[in-house]
Amino acid sequence: MDKRLVEKKGIMGGTFDPIHYGHLVTAEEVRDYFGLKEVVFVPSARPPHKIGQKITDPEHRYLMAVLATATNPYFSVSRVEIERSGPSYSIDTVSLFKEKWGEEVEVFFITGADAFAQISSWNNPDKLLELCTFVAASRPGYRLTNLDEKYQARIKPIEVSALAISSSEIRRRVKRWESIKYLLPESVEYYIYKNRLYQE
Ligand code: ATP
Ligand code: MG
Repeated sequence: MDKRLVEKKGIMGGTFDPIHYGHLVTAEEVRDYFGLKEVVFVPSARPPHKIGQKITDPEHRYLMAVLATATNPYFSVSRVEIERSGPSYSIDTVSLFKEKWGEEVEVFFITGADAFAQISSWNNPDKLLELCTFVAASRPGYRLTNLDEKYQARIKPIEVSALAISSSEIRRRVKRWESIKYLLPESVEYYIYKNRLYQE
């Protein structure tokens, strides 16, 4: 590894609609395993792969991420994609943090197996893989195999505690008045009910 890289920091992108324990466990286990000094959650304002889908107001998604990460001193939430206009491309976000953190920081971009499998359809994947190390975390229901060979060198697969939780399932449950207890932090659960999110 390049000797100038003395520190490691993580970025976890996502729609977080809402954030849940699957996201939190993944980020925490990756942080612990790779010795990351911090992990920044970056809620996407306009995810290019979710165009046409109904997505909750970014301010709600941002605040839920803040609530969920409040008890972890290594975690923080960034507004960069919310404040940037146009589609939310990870390449722009990673470039921005590279600049902010400087050359000596090795940037880890954390994704679940499903998101990672789509990488070749992302904007400028080659450049993205030059800029950062990709962590492909296991996720129940998705396989970590068949990763494109040309990307192998910059990719770190990791097995994290299996939680078969998804934001879409949480939204579906709220809509049907089913319980979402223990799938996400209580503060986020209360926030959802207080603001009547996902009810229709
Ligand atoms: P949706 O069902 O709306 O797509 P989601 O649960 O997949 O929501 P996203 O915001 O789309 O959540 O995902 C953000 C990132 O977190 C992605 O890289 C995704 O692969 C990862 N991720 C989400 N849930 C899990 C989980 N249960 N285990 C591991 N990784 C996860
Ligand atoms: Mg998803």
